[in-house]
Amino acid sequence: MESVREVPVQAGTMTPLVTLIVSQPGMAGRLIAQHRDDGTGRCTACQLGAQAGRSRWPCSIYAAAAAAEEVRADGAEAR
Ligand SMILES: [Zn+2]
Repeated sequence: MESVREVPVQAGTMTPLVTLIVSQPGMAGRLIAQHRDDGTGRCTACQLGAQAGRSRWPCSIYAAAAAAEEVRADGAEAR
């Protein structure tokens, strides 16, 4: 198992997905760029892969990426 740098974060924010995104440089920004509001309150990226359901924006992936961005920013300032 790879050890992940511990950073102060609010309880509930640090999900496994957030941890993964934080560990990948540039991933948070890429996801945020892809998962955007298409203008009707839905995610531009998620609706491509999920025909059955409408993915509302912010989707869970965007939320995780945004949380990861905050974690990275906090970690950078603390060092
Ligand atoms: Zn999405």
